[in-house]
Amino acid sequence: MSLFSAVEMAPRDPILGLNEQFNADPNPKKVNLGVGVYFDDNGKLPLLQCVQAAEKALMDKPSARGYLPIDGIAAYDSAVKALVFGADSAVVQEGRVATVQAIGGTGGLKIGADFLKKLNPQARVLISDPSWENHRALFTNAGFEVGSYRYYDAATRSVNFDGMLADLRAAAPGTIVVLHACCHNPTGYDLTPAQWDQVIAAVQERQLVPFLDMAYQGFGNGIQEDGAVIGKFVATGMNLFVSTSFSKSFSLYGERVGALSVVARDKEEAARVLSQLKIVVRTNYSNPPTHGGAVVAKVLNDPELRAQWEQELGEMRVRIKAMRSKLVDGLKAAGVQQDMSFITDQIGMFSYSGLSKAQMDRLKSEFGVYGTDTGRLCVAALNSKNIDYVCASIAQV
Ligand code: PLP
Repeated sequence: MSLFSAVEMAPRDPILGLNEQFNADPNPKKVNLGVGVYFDDNGKLPLLQCVQAAEKALMDKPSARGYLPIDGIAAYDSAVKALVFGADSAVVQEGRVATVQAIGGTGGLKIGADFLKKLNPQARVLISDPSWENHRALFTNAGFEVGSYRYYDAATRSVNFDGMLADLRAAAPGTIVVLHACCHNPTGYDLTPAQWDQVIAAVQERQLVPFLDMAYQGFGNGIQEDGAVIGKFVATGMNLFVSTSFSKSFSLYGERVGALSVVARDKEEAARVLSQLKIVVRTNYSNPPTHGGAVVAKVLNDPELRAQWEQELGEMRVRIKAMRSKLVDGLKAAGVQQDMSFITDQIGMFSYSGLSKAQMDRLKSEFGVYGTDTGRLCVAALNSKNIDYVCASIAQV
């Protein structure tokens, strides 16, 4: 008799499962659009120049690897605050933001979830329908009951905004609402500024707790533009949670660099919140790792490297947009009758293509073109070499 006799085999992560299938596929033309990763036009994961330069500078002055403070590198946390809220913003100047370095955006979400669970164990969590697949699991594992608010309307290929508002207005006070700050994953549809105003009013009216997941700042319309919604929330004076990820924007997926920022009412409250966030970190993994945070802090705080990063991030953003246009034109040229121009209305790394599970299965088995069962395609994995093949394959199904 083993302790583990009754342990069930957990289902495979759907995206990682798809990758395994892709790797095993002998089709020489295969294209993996199932991933959530940006590839360059050569189909390679980029190593940004600014990252290389920062790493070189760090190597030139090697330092011993002591423990970091529980909340991470101070210069990193202040750079995150400046990026997310604006360096000159009142909320930062007044010391109202508590920021901790986290293990990726996922880590930021988890620290926030654990803190919220202690704060209000009875609260429910609402995520968008659909959402990044880990939102539900993460908040469920943190002990919450997780429901959803309507978000995507397949029939009109747009945000079901009335449905979303109605669901937020029906939520009990204290409900935690997870919102995608920009580049909604998986649909690619974001709210307009006017719609955000209405969402913020509903959140405020119903006394909900906003938790903004910002995993793609700079991938949509620009660093400032993508972060604008944060300023709108802050302007109301509400308490606010923001998770940040640099996985995509720095192409530093494996370094696990992210953060959690919490907006408090005043400096003293922020200090109390920070002390609690540190307990969450301390009792989970004690303190964050050094390398990724040091690289990002170096880039964000050095004017030259910062300019280089903004340029490289801009190139990634522009390339994705170009691929969206090419996809629309290519599908038309390949004989797709339907108007596919909605693809250029979407934003960020992903496109909800409207393809059914059966069509996605055919794409995979007959053409070696991989996307998720829901029809989500990673536009950031398209390039000038694979786009014609992808368009022709989609036209066939
Ligand atoms: N949140 C969303 C919406 C995401 O799409 C992702 C990554 O795909 C994350 C969070 C997690 O980011 P990280 O890899 O930095 O943990």
